[in-house]
Amino acid sequence: MNAEIIAVGSELLLGQIVNTNARFLSQQLAEIGINVYYHTVVGDNPIRLEKAIEVAEERSNLIIFTGGLGPTKDDLTKETIARHLDRKLIMDEHALLSITQYFEKTGREMTENNKKQALVLEGSVVLPNDHGMAPGMILTRSGITYMLLPGPPKEMEPMFISYGADALYKKTNSKERIYSKVLRFFGIGEAALETKVEDLLDYQNPTVAPLASDGEVTLRITAKHSNYDDAMVLIEGVEKEILTRVGEFHYGYGTTSLINEVFNRLSSAGMTLSCVESLTGGMFQEEITSLQGSSALFMGGIVSYSNEAKIKLLDVKEHTIVEFGAVSEQCAKEMAENVRLKLSSDIGMSFTGVAGPDEVEGKPVGTVWIGVARKGKPTVAYSVNLAGSRNSIRIRTVKHGCHILLNNLQE
Ligand code: ATP
Repeated sequence: MNAEIIAVGSELLLGQIVNTNARFLSQQLAEIGINVYYHTVVGDNPIRLEKAIEVAEERSNLIIFTGGLGPTKDDLTKETIARHLDRKLIMDEHALLSITQYFEKTGREMTENNKKQALVLEGSVVLPNDHGMAPGMILTRSGITYMLLPGPPKEMEPMFISYGADALYKKTNSKERIYSKVLRFFGIGEAALETKVEDLLDYQNPTVAPLASDGEVTLRITAKHSNYDDAMVLIEGVEKEILTRVGEFHYGYGTTSLINEVFNRLSSAGMTLSCVESLTGGMFQEEITSLQGSSALFMGGIVSYSNEAKIKLLDVKEHTIVEFGAVSEQCAKEMAENVRLKLSSDIGMSFTGVAGPDEVEGKPVGTVWIGVARKGKPTVAYSVNLAGSRNSIRIRTVKHGCHILLNNLQE
């Protein structure tokens, strides 16, 4: 199948929103083994939408629409497709019931145009919307499959995963499915990682694809097979090989993150954490507290941005700052130890460094010290040298802190 994605919505053309639906669907279709050759964006205009459909029909046999399924006047996708395909729109009783129930539950009044959302193309298979009101649809005519999905990503993505993908798998008539596993790495650059696994990148089944973002690298191992267990054997064989080469940088799988892994390891070790931040100004604390259940392990933290704050709030010795500076191994250690003692936690972490743009204490931008004080163990501080903008130095400092803590917890 050759697919085209048509995103409908004037906000996309005005640059008010980014077409993340096309990105998501392209990734999903690639996994199913369907080629995507075109992305089209068209405003809420029925004439231009119909023209876009005509063009797509010339070159694609799967056309996926997102957006324009809502209740308002400018939501014209299904009306335009119905007219174009000469199909009626009929009321889908299931969809109508779930819309009615939604209004009853929220105590809001249902208007006539809300009912319009339960209209579907006659002869189509309805894709339920578990996170909103407008159902999706899939319909094949003259060898071309039309799939209609809602615009909001929080509705469209689960609908595609739960119902749309399966319908397409069936249409491809392939017994083979795509299975993949994502390995996440930190502390090694994309180029260095690629060099270490270069030969594996030429494999055909499974394939290995690297992706870098925000100082992290992922490797996606993808196998095509008719059987899940056999696909996993293929994937795990390559995974093992990758981990023997770069396992020291591997920290997790799938959509996890460094902070998630920190949280999981602290939870399973039954340990508590506190933290003091200078250059990151609370970013680490914001990350850890954004995780549900963090109150069980995160005792609290301090932002000691100025030297005065380090002395007054944390009892860092004035002598330490005068002799070694605030951005120093000694200061990072004292900060970590003192916050741990003040908040009676098992681990105290500290972040001190130069985010830029100017150097501090004669230390260049990107110089960072991260301290870890652990009950019953000698306090340690690690030096990290980072490049980039002020904000990317701060973001990466937090990531390095998580990585350091993960390694420390393994000891
Ligand atoms: P609704 O019932 O919310 O009106 P809809 O199916 O009619 O849903 P639209 O009205 O086109 O969809 O878009 C609703 C919202 O969904 C947009 O304001 C935007 O936030 C998001 N959205 C729409 N299309 C896209 C897209 N291609 N990529 C990312 N987000 C999108």
